[in-house]
Amino acid sequence: MNHHTPETPADVVARLRATFRTGRTKPVEWRTGQLRRMRAMLAERGSDLAAALHADLGKSSTEAYRTEIDFTIREIDHTLDHLDAWLRPEPAPVPAHLGADATAWTRYDPLGVVLVIAPWNYPAQLLLAPVVGALASGNAVVAKPSELAPATSAALAELLPAYLDTDAVAVVEGGVPETTALLAERFDHVFYTGNGTVGRIVMRAAAEHLTPVTLELGGKSPVFVDRDTDLGVVADRLARGKFINAGQTCVAPDYVLTTQETAAALETALVRAVDALYGGDPAASPEYGRIINERHFDRLSALLDSGRVVTGGDSDRTGKYIAPTVLADVDPKSPVMQEEIFGPILPIVTVSGLDEAIDFINDRDKPLALYVFSESGETRDRIAAETSSGGLGYGLPLAHLTVSDLPFGGVGESGMGNYHGRYSIETFSHRKAVLDKPLN
Ligand code: NAD
Repeated sequence: MNHHTPETPADVVARLRATFRTGRTKPVEWRTGQLRRMRAMLAERGSDLAAALHADLGKSSTEAYRTEIDFTIREIDHTLDHLDAWLRPEPAPVPAHLGADATAWTRYDPLGVVLVIAPWNYPAQLLLAPVVGALASGNAVVAKPSELAPATSAALAELLPAYLDTDAVAVVEGGVPETTALLAERFDHVFYTGNGTVGRIVMRAAAEHLTPVTLELGGKSPVFVDRDTDLGVVADRLARGKFINAGQTCVAPDYVLTTQETAAALETALVRAVDALYGGDPAASPEYGRIINERHFDRLSALLDSGRVVTGGDSDRTGKYIAPTVLADVDPKSPVMQEEIFGPILPIVTVSGLDEAIDFINDRDKPLALYVFSESGETRDRIAAETSSGGLGYGLPLAHLTVSDLPFGGVGESGMGNYHGRYSIETFSHRKAVLDKPLN
């Protein structure tokens, strides 16, 4: 196969489909072999990826390894450790009318050729982690990195084919025209991470072929801070979760709901927490990232006067820098409260108490994540039972998605379907029902 002549999306899919039809991707040895190759890629060329992530997002090397490279390695190791068990056929009880000799079970079949479309904010992890699941399930994969993180996209386009089976895994780079062309093809599953507007485009295109989709979307993830909590700890954990990757995290705490009196004390604690994390001048901290591009910088800058600035508030367009910013006395009708912020701005909205906080959350789209800081069992239980969100975190933002045995995904406007660990096998396989009635 000559890989130097540019292939059309139709050519790529046809080539991968031909490979899938040979059965080559199905044996578990092929799957684990590919995962081991990807692991080697991350171990040997992780620094190339880290450099690309720094070029695209000003990500520090520590953060690049923690949230993208090592994160993916852990996902691979967890899958390698458990894949045999996850793939084991599951026996099902057989009803008496079929006779005592009949047996039944389910088995996991690969789907075929799957498309993974990734966003720019964790541009390596959010492409690779779904690919891990797709390969572990025995599929061929077309991977489409985000054009808005061009250095990472180029690095992945170079590295993945250098390590993986190029007859079964293809990287297609590009933006809207290229993705539109890909989506015209028939895939057996489309796994999309990004915003809900494009999510609808993806689902519409997939519907033409009756292709199932996983949509990993976003939205405003709320935080409820109860009275009588240790606000030093709360502020430290909130600031870490909010300002990592300059707030460009799908599960970042979007805004805080708390009572007036707690808000006042939390403000002081947040000023201290931001200072402890990034020093007096976050622009000079190597640990603090940058905004992906001018368009997002301009969008975020327009939100900086949505409330009283508690800390931060300054920005620099040339450096695509926006300070870690906390806004207080924020009106729910203000611009910062209308859409997912996806940047380093944390508004505090005051409510009269838990009832109003629950109503506030339920009046809006179902969030991807919801965080609760409370020592009260009743408060914690009520929020779990009375609200709906993709994930729920008590006491620590972001961390639920690092638990490989938890499904990661949204609900309602924050998406459909989920993945990570064994849930990736569910997503990228067909669970086939099998009945066996002996002939004599
Ligand atoms: P993005 O702009 O990089 O878009 C995502 C992908 O969609 C890219 O690969 C892009 O090429 C493709 N795309 C863009 N326009 C398209 C079109 N018209 N047709 C077909 N494909 C198109 O990323 P984004 O959407 O700005 O990502 C940010 C959003 O993603 C936020 O809402 C965030 O919360 C969400 N997000 C969710 C998760 C999750 O796991 N649930 C993770 C990260 C980000």
